[in-house]
Amino acid sequence: MDTSASTLAAPAPRRLRIAIIGAGMAGILAAIRLKEAGTHELVVFEKADRIGGTWRENTYPGLTCDVPAHAYTYSFAPNPDWSSFLAPGPEIQRYFEDVVRRYAIAPLIRFGCAIRSCRFDDTRRLWTITDDQGRDDDFDVVIAATGVLHHPSMPALPGLGEFAGACFHSARWDHGVALDGRRIAVVGSGSTGVQIVSALAGRAARLYHIQRTPQWIMPMPNEPYSEAQRAAFRADPGLIDEIRYGEHYTGLVRRFTRAIIDADAPEMHEIETIVRDNLERSVRDPQLREALRPNYRAACKRLIYSSDYYDKIQQPDVEAVVGAIECIEPEGVRMKDGSLKEADVLVLATGFQADRFVRPIKVRGRGAADLDAQWTPSPSAYLGITLPGFPNFFMLNGPTGPVGNFSLIDIAERQWAYIEQLLAPLARAECALVELRADTLRAYDERRVTAARRTIFGSGCSSWYLDATGVPASWPWTYEAFAEQTAKPQAGDYLFTA
Ligand SMILES: Cc1cc2nc3c(=O)[nH]c(=O)nc-3n(C[C@H](O)[C@H](O)[C@H](O)COP(=O)(O)OP(=O)(O)OC[C@H]3O[C@@H](n4cnc5c(N)ncnc54)[C@H](O)[C@@H]3O)c2cc1C
Repeated sequence: MDTSASTLAAPAPRRLRIAIIGAGMAGILAAIRLKEAGTHELVVFEKADRIGGTWRENTYPGLTCDVPAHAYTYSFAPNPDWSSFLAPGPEIQRYFEDVVRRYAIAPLIRFGCAIRSCRFDDTRRLWTITDDQGRDDDFDVVIAATGVLHHPSMPALPGLGEFAGACFHSARWDHGVALDGRRIAVVGSGSTGVQIVSALAGRAARLYHIQRTPQWIMPMPNEPYSEAQRAAFRADPGLIDEIRYGEHYTGLVRRFTRAIIDADAPEMHEIETIVRDNLERSVRDPQLREALRPNYRAACKRLIYSSDYYDKIQQPDVEAVVGAIECIEPEGVRMKDGSLKEADVLVLATGFQADRFVRPIKVRGRGAADLDAQWTPSPSAYLGITLPGFPNFFMLNGPTGPVGNFSLIDIAERQWAYIEQLLAPLARAECALVELRADTLRAYDERRVTAARRTIFGSGCSSWYLDATGVPASWPWTYEAFAEQTAKPQAGDYLFTA
């Protein structure tokens, strides 16, 4: 990359002090890459006592990834031992723990260290990071890898506090609560709610799946890998590459993102046909079928992948309750139609505050620019990575990046490769600061909002994809466009301050 500060005469290389906030999938990735480069001093701050982020916090029954496990794997650390096509959550957590061990990242991590604020000092050109104990530390560069789906969203249901049984959010599963033979109400019909209901059917005495809006369900078989298959993956990594990079999966992703960005594309009609046929074929009772028929277009909400939900919801011990909740009573869930769904356990599969990103960390950039103010009413970042006013501050999986039915590991790897290129002129001491130009983000947002309104996410449903202004917040262009635009930073997009 040609930087405007590159005319300086061959300065000595600089050892940067770099802070990574978060030891989930993205923070681990950045730590491994920076450790391998061996050039900089590195500290990873993690508020929990273990790595893993999403996969540490979500331990609910039935959790699997919904992209092929071999695609939900770092490109540099393939895993021939995945037990099934879609790996179970605990196995994914073990994978990340194993990678951290193999790459000896743990000594770099300060566990139990929640970051409260990041303040940029214009004079010293340093970021001061403050943790929840009030300890300060100075860094040249901050990498925020604090997650997308991290802060649970609690529903504002009247009477919630008066429920007499056990009640918890799906990301705070209480494993001390018995489930077998109990009456369980699961609220929420996103991927999590669907996975929990599919896993608990047959275990609960009575299982209610309470949903304001039913979902379109894409059938997705999840076959276990045999020992022979795993041995073959070990012997020939090309077989893993075939799953991950082969036409079958990449073609699916390509067609899927084309469908998303053009609601009239043939690819979208193909998706609609599959999910409609799935509903028609799988749900026998016409009344239940109509109750489970969404009144919005497929993929408007994040598409649900499941091979067994429709089977499970038709079991005699399971009831789909489609409608609005009036309130929670000590005995159970009172629906607006007056019915009471009596329950011993209430599971809130109500998702996450998907607009938080780095927040609630207070981030103050150049001239005390306030991130919270900049992100009101809704957050944005160029390619999900950088912001004007916040020099040497980079995000992984930040706002407006692609979040959909494909591997976020691939997205984070692309973003990291982009960030590495922005760190290079700093490390060569060609400049002290790299900062996105304000007009770069402005032009990006203008194009992005126009394109976002045309995506399937903007086709008339409510979902966590929509920001506070009702605009879909996810990347509104193709997957190929994301790959292209993150391949190489354009020097003209940035200010390089010597
Ligand atoms: C139930 C569920 C299923 C999912 N399934 C898939 C899937 O199948 N495929 C897919 O691609 N994606 C999936 N995702 C998305 C998933 O979040 C990402 O794939 C990935 O795990 C995100 O990694 P991350 O490191 O960006 O964030 P996270 O995993 O959220 O990690 C962020 C880390 O930062 C730490 N942190 C946050 N704030 C602070 C702070 N102030 N101080 C210190 N530490 C902090 C957190 O404790 C956490 O460890 C799923 C998400 C959920 C919730």
